[in-house]
Amino acid sequence: MHTLYTIIDDIADNGKIDVMQLDALLKNNDREADGYLFFKAQKAADRIYKNKIYIRGLIEFTNHCKNDCYYCGIRRNNFCAQRYRLSKDEIISCTDEGYRLGFRTFVLQGGEDVFYDDDKICDIISEIKKNHSDCAVTLSIGEKSYASYKMYFDAGADRYLLRHETADREHYGKLHPAELSFENRIRCLYDLKEIGYQVGCGFMTGSPYQTTDTIYKDIRFICELKPHMLGIGPFIPHHDTPFADKSAGTAVITLRLIAIMRLLRPCMLIPATTALSTIDEEGAEKGILAGANVVMPNLSPKDVRGKYTLYDNKIHSGSEAAEHLCLLKKKFENIGYEIEISRGDYKDK
Ligand code: SAH
Repeated sequence: MHTLYTIIDDIADNGKIDVMQLDALLKNNDREADGYLFFKAQKAADRIYKNKIYIRGLIEFTNHCKNDCYYCGIRRNNFCAQRYRLSKDEIISCTDEGYRLGFRTFVLQGGEDVFYDDDKICDIISEIKKNHSDCAVTLSIGEKSYASYKMYFDAGADRYLLRHETADREHYGKLHPAELSFENRIRCLYDLKEIGYQVGCGFMTGSPYQTTDTIYKDIRFICELKPHMLGIGPFIPHHDTPFADKSAGTAVITLRLIAIMRLLRPCMLIPATTALSTIDEEGAEKGILAGANVVMPNLSPKDVRGKYTLYDNKIHSGSEAAEHLCLLKKKFENIGYEIEISRGDYKDK
């Protein structure tokens, strides 16, 4: 009979977890055991990243999307979404403002918007790199061909975020329409790695039809892909999607999975996500104290922030706003952490 504590020690010492151990940790009702798990994960992050938190300026540059993911508020079939696109000049202004505030990584995220063809994307990347050569550019613009990914990389993109969403094919089919394939999503991630990007995958906690078995597959997939970054945040329903009536994921399961992944792959860059802060006011601090080491404040122009509504009540003010970095700084100081002004690259130990 394993206690939760011996399970946690075993994961930390051996960098491995089995499905029974995962199940025990996910179903646990013992807050002290959670405390022990989070503490161990926090220490594992500290060994590599010390007490430094990396910041990324998130620019949500378009909410037009050709896809129809059942969970997402900017899916093409949500006719209530107020659509917008930022011009190249608007994006460049965001990065200039972000640079002034101390950001050295810019994340360009958007729906899969055919308006921005490869030439436009490359032009934006090279302009940012020309203006701010000490900055990293991260893309998060969905599934593309190997050739497109290579073009962006050659134009100067450093990193790419593409959550795999779930590593279980059947589960993938319940979250997405048939025109989207699990195989292509996974193909993209391996292509991005091969090209040389720092790559991030990830999944939502509590997404409809998720089970311990699908989460175990996520963990096995992550250990096989070996991404540099990992985004884990709770699923939150959006009222104009097919999943409007589904229940949201919880903060505690999100924190446990952040902690478990930190113990399994200590070097990864793991954000305390906006979704986590949306369901829990102290999400950013709790995320850091469970092993996260990145935050991504919103650097989009203020008038579009309320339109990038992936889910209901998505926060974009207070310490979630890039211009209020001082609030975040205070939050982290209170728990013994500092924001680092740097690109914040992946550390290979
Ligand atoms: N089009 C890009 C960016 C998608 S938005 C891409 O395909 O990668 C970034 C992430 O937000 C998604 O990968 C998804 O995991 C998350 N997301 C979307 N809808 C959500 C919801 N309802 N609740 C929580 N997270 C959501």
